[in-house]
Amino acid sequence: MVKKSNYRNLEKKLKFTKRNCWEVWSDNEKKKAFAFNEKYKDFLDKAKTEREAVQCGVRLAEKKGFREIGQCRSLKAGDKVYEINRHKSLILAVIGKKSLSDGLRIIMSHVDSPHLDLKVQPLYEEEDLAYFKTHYYGGIKKYHWPTIALALHGTIVLTNGRKVDLKIGEKKDEPIFMISDLLPHLGRKQLKKPLEEAIVGEELNILAGSIPVRDKKIKEKVKLAVLEYLHKKYGIKEEDLFSAEIQAVPAESARDLGFDRSLIAAYGQDDRICAWTSLSAIFDAKPADRTQICFWVDREEIGSEGNTGAQSIFLESFVSKLLALKKVGDGLKDVYQVFAFSQALSSDVTAALDPDYKDVHDPRNTAKLGYGVALEKYTGHRGKSVTSEASAEYTQEIRSILNKNKIIWQTASLGKVDEGGGGTIAMFMAKRNMDIIDMGIALFNMHAPMEISSKADVYSAYLAYKAFFE
Ligand code: MN
Ligand code: MN
Repeated sequence: MVKKSNYRNLEKKLKFTKRNCWEVWSDNEKKKAFAFNEKYKDFLDKAKTEREAVQCGVRLAEKKGFREIGQCRSLKAGDKVYEINRHKSLILAVIGKKSLSDGLRIIMSHVDSPHLDLKVQPLYEEEDLAYFKTHYYGGIKKYHWPTIALALHGTIVLTNGRKVDLKIGEKKDEPIFMISDLLPHLGRKQLKKPLEEAIVGEELNILAGSIPVRDKKIKEKVKLAVLEYLHKKYGIKEEDLFSAEIQAVPAESARDLGFDRSLIAAYGQDDRICAWTSLSAIFDAKPADRTQICFWVDREEIGSEGNTGAQSIFLESFVSKLLALKKVGDGLKDVYQVFAFSQALSSDVTAALDPDYKDVHDPRNTAKLGYGVALEKYTGHRGKSVTSEASAEYTQEIRSILNKNKIIWQTASLGKVDEGGGGTIAMFMAKRNMDIIDMGIALFNMHAPMEISSKADVYSAYLAYKAFFE
């Protein structure tokens, strides 16, 4: 029999309790967390598309001594290399002391975020106004997008092959773009529709101009005026818009939220929050026995398909280059050997318990804002479909790394069992025969134009990724 007076000790010994970073951290740690988040916000403002994220990541990596892998003749422990895939995916590696065939330590995240793509024939005129037609990318709630300030970011390849980068709507003196919505006075029918039908994809048209050219013979005068502007400023003709990747993204920059400034509201935190924390971790981690890899992929929001997504063989190709430079065989067999002994983290966002929407969550199994990096054994949908699951052995290994390094962490799962769910890139890495677990950051209003995160979780994730690398 245990004496009643001992129960408090017993509770401490046996119970797993979530801890709030703000209650545990010293003033000095809090200060470091706030400073870290200033750099994160800066990254979010500079990297609103996957291309911009990769550009930004490479610029920082080169400053930290990373070299393009094609420039290397051989590799030794401590060397830092990177490779870019088609401007939208990036791998960074710090070579470890042990052989590559002992496996890698990989952290993967994605740098694409839900947004509106301009259609292939986007520009049109109606009622003397010029518009761009769009096709949304990723799982958005369409009613979020009208009436917010939008910026256009993109790359256009002109007829002569010249590449033009476009970014308009971010600076205070630049114009923004907008999708209009119906006034409530006439919205009686619209307001009775289910949210999913109130705004449909074909209505997400972006207003882009209203001054016509002065010639009565011209049929679409405002459209021609927009084309004239685009041609004068960038050399773009209408056909060039077909060989273009132009995205409409929220024009707002990353902002502190709340009196205490403990939260961040910003566009694209899914998943540049994990891209930033894993990049910072590989920059700051001490070189270790195993080779460290920070891998940024594109196309996660639409199923990881495509040559820049997690399902592409870019990783195989990169690892075979590492093997060749270490002169230890570079065939697929050797790459598979490396994968079989590799350990990976899929670093992506999860849902935080929102008091206003408690009914869709299992509160006991949902992450909370401010309670640290979130460890998710599996994601997926009803009945654990469309996901991988980390083994008991690997989960324990990760847990012990976190505990040894005194990192505040919590468990997570997305939604009630029968409610819905979501996937990550973990399953595509599991397919490559490596150990992988999801470890990321919980957000409020994921996939909305502005998503909310806790600065504590951002910093805790950075510390966790660094510990994993080391
Ligand atoms: Mn994500
Ligand atoms: Mn997402």
